[in-house]
Amino acid sequence: MNNDCLFCKIIRREIPAKIAFEDDEVLAFHDIQPAAPIHILFVPKKHVDSVVHVLDQEPVVSLLANRAVKAAEKLGIQSTGFRLVMNYGPDAGQTVHHLHMHLLGGAHLSHL
Ligand code: 5GP
Ligand code: ZN
Repeated sequence: MNNDCLFCKIIRREIPAKIAFEDDEVLAFHDIQPAAPIHILFVPKKHVDSVVHVLDQEPVVSLLANRAVKAAEKLGIQSTGFRLVMNYGPDAGQTVHHLHMHLLGGAHLSHL
């Protein structure tokens, strides 16, 4: 846990968020500025700064992907498709330094 981290505050329920999914390890909530009709962030409950900081613990990335794909299936967007994104650093526009995976879908997304 990181006292000043925005997503840790959401995990501790100090800041409200529209929760989409929760289990012992992962919290998922709707992005405050959605870039698609469905835009959910999947975060590990244990604070990690970024994907670069989990090289020694790769399972956390597959954990987030697993929960995101299951959510996509539940939301009915597996047949239409979806995008999973992890930003790192300034060129990718990472703004929150708590590891998170974006799940985007519900409309045709412009190709990267
Ligand atoms: P990044 O740009 O770091 O990959 O993604 C951070 C995401 O967090 C952004 O898409 C941004 O809209 C979202 N975000 C920032 N602050 C909040 C907040 O207070 N609540 C929620 N639900 N999302 C947030
Ligand atoms: Zn955090």
